[in-house]
Amino acid sequence: MSIMIHGIGLGGGIAIGNAYILDKYLDDATLHFLEEDELPDEISRFEDAIYKTRLELERLRGDIPFDAPAELGAFLSLSIMMLNDSQISQAPIKIIKEEFCNAEWALKLQADRLSDQFAEMEDQYLKERKYDVIQVLERIFKNLDGNQFNWDSVGKIEYGILVTHDLSPADLIHFKNSNFSGFVTEVGSLTSHTAIVGRNLDIPSIVGASFSRQLIKDDELIIVDGVNGVLIINPDEIVLKEYKKLQQDWLHSRTKLKEIRKNETVTLDGVNVSLFANIDTVNDIVDARYNYAQGIGLFRSEFLFLANEDHLSTEDEQFETYKKLALEMKHNSVTIRTADLGVDKNPSWNLMNHNDGMNPALGLTGIRLSLAEYSFFKTQLRAILRASYYGDIQVMFPMISSSIELKQAINHLNYAMEELKDEKISFNPKIKIGAMIEVPSIAIAIKSIIPLVDFVSIGTNDLIQYLLAVDRNDESVNYLYNPLHPAVLKIIYHVIKTCDKADVPVSICGEMAGDTQMTRLLLGMGLRRFSMYSSNLLNVKNVILNTDISLIMKTVNKILKCEQIEKMDELLEELNIL
Ligand code: PEP
Ligand code: MG
Repeated sequence: MSIMIHGIGLGGGIAIGNAYILDKYLDDATLHFLEEDELPDEISRFEDAIYKTRLELERLRGDIPFDAPAELGAFLSLSIMMLNDSQISQAPIKIIKEEFCNAEWALKLQADRLSDQFAEMEDQYLKERKYDVIQVLERIFKNLDGNQFNWDSVGKIEYGILVTHDLSPADLIHFKNSNFSGFVTEVGSLTSHTAIVGRNLDIPSIVGASFSRQLIKDDELIIVDGVNGVLIINPDEIVLKEYKKLQQDWLHSRTKLKEIRKNETVTLDGVNVSLFANIDTVNDIVDARYNYAQGIGLFRSEFLFLANEDHLSTEDEQFETYKKLALEMKHNSVTIRTADLGVDKNPSWNLMNHNDGMNPALGLTGIRLSLAEYSFFKTQLRAILRASYYGDIQVMFPMISSSIELKQAINHLNYAMEELKDEKISFNPKIKIGAMIEVPSIAIAIKSIIPLVDFVSIGTNDLIQYLLAVDRNDESVNYLYNPLHPAVLKIIYHVIKTCDKADVPVSICGEMAGDTQMTRLLLGMGLRRFSMYSSNLLNVKNVILNTDISLIMKTVNKILKCEQIEKMDELLEELNIL
């Protein structure tokens, strides 16, 4: 039977291939310490997993085909019996209580202990029973939520489409090096970092395709339509043929778009626009250059720290990366945003021993974390300054909420300059300084930082989240995340106009800049600098080349004056068909 699921398409075209369902393994369990009052919940989570495992095994036993080997029934009965054994059902609870740890970790510890006991057995037959026990523990583990998986094993897969519950931004860095031709996740929202990085991969992908792991069998043929967010499981011949054609058409239109790569980015009425690239790694430079980006508008430097499995990048490691960016981009500017860690971008190892807090998005994140971790921040600033000697490097600070914070960051930059001067190390003393405008307070009070900066860049992803009080990572409130909310447009317009008046270059580097539905509106609002992932660059350029700003202004003004959110979609459509 063929099934269709809808999710959020991250683009990248269409992939047709066999599903590789990513399961979780006991060995991948990680340790989380719990507070005493969290223990009862953790224990009931573990007991729920035992219960689910029992149901699963009983169902399997009830569904044994009549021609299956006789031992299968006996094996399943034995597995069900094991669930009653205190070594499996009680010992992990004891560990949770004694070690104050999560259930996954307790299960892993108990598995290790049991493995050791089996290893000591003399009887070969009993020794072998270890694998039966571990299999039961693995099944319990899979019925616990929130596990991480191991990329070492996944990286070896030769082909296929990855289907998994979730991928963190750090997982996607690993994904880039794998051979999968697409991916599907069960959770995810439009502007989560997973979606943003996923879009940059430019391979067919869908997030938020609920229950896909339950509906897809391992190795089953699936179609991932990343453009429309449609996942088709086990397509019939007619659908398959249709999608193969769509895949060809998509590739063809891609090729056609490439013809405008080298064209100047200028509107029909002669207004010049600059298009920059957002990158996460040095390798992304290849696409940025291929698509003739005028520079790097945002290097999310935090990915340097996410990619490392076990340590912070040293000053020299960072310097080499930044220098490479400067040299590769030749005379074009490279804007390095200092680490924007926290919330969903955290290294797998404990970076700075700060706990998550009640509400990490309002906690120690972005520049706040850097200012709290002086030596980490200084290391990064020194590396950026040293690299500035080799090209047009600019530095930009994330999550600025007041001029005080920005002044503190600039003071740290000045100290780093003093140190380098004393050490006779070369750098560009006139390095350009920028601030991300992504916290509403600083967007409104933009004038307060104008004297401190050489440029600003509007981070619409966070600006919208904080302005509308909508968690960008929470799919349950996705429907409220609306770039066309009158408050969003007014605040962006205010920033653009204020910066224009003060002659401070302003760009947008959030997802709005790469959304072709928004291009004309932003042009009409006065934006002349867009920064986006390279995969969107030619699409946006195409819209710009086909826009006459003087002809769209009437509708743009109508949109800017409109106070009714429900009318916005219609007005935008009107603007985009002009
Ligand atoms: C933004 O918030 O718009 C932005 C560009 O930064 P990030 O998506 O990395 O938070
Ligand atoms: Mg941001």
